Amino acid sequence: MNLRYKLNQFMYGRYVTYGMDLLTKVLLVICIALSVVNLFLGSYIIQFAETLLFIYMFYRLFSKNISKRTAENGKMINLLGKIKGFFKLRKRMHSERQTHIYKKCPHCSVTLRLPRRAGEHNVNCPRCKNDFKVKVR
Ligand SMILES: [Zn+2]
Repeated sequence: MNLRYKLNQFMYGRYVTYGMDLLTKVLLVICIALSVVNLFLGSYIIQFAETLLFIYMFYRLFSKNISKRTAENGKMINLLGKIKGFFKLRKRMHSERQTHIYKKCPHCSVTLRLPRRAGEHNVNCPRCKNDFKVKVR
């Protein structure tokens, strides 16, 4: 009974009581992947990196600074979103390669989807309103 009370006292307000967040899952997957790779390599450096990641993961889980941990998780969500977006765009570019081309605006570097029509065209960027020339073969 006393031990349970002490455990509850210890866990009170810890980040882990809010459940496993995305960053924890990513760290866990990286740790597992590293240990699987290290089964074959047996590298001390990888083992060390794995241990550091593990310590960091537990540090985060038992941290009481909830807002900081939530912000870290938000960064991870953003990063994963960008990676997913990158691959989604590549997939779309490939599937539409017969009908559309994708060009980056030289002024604001946003990627524009343009109809594939042979010749030289003037393009007006809808985001920054600047004009630039595009050659399509
Ligand atoms: Zn632009």
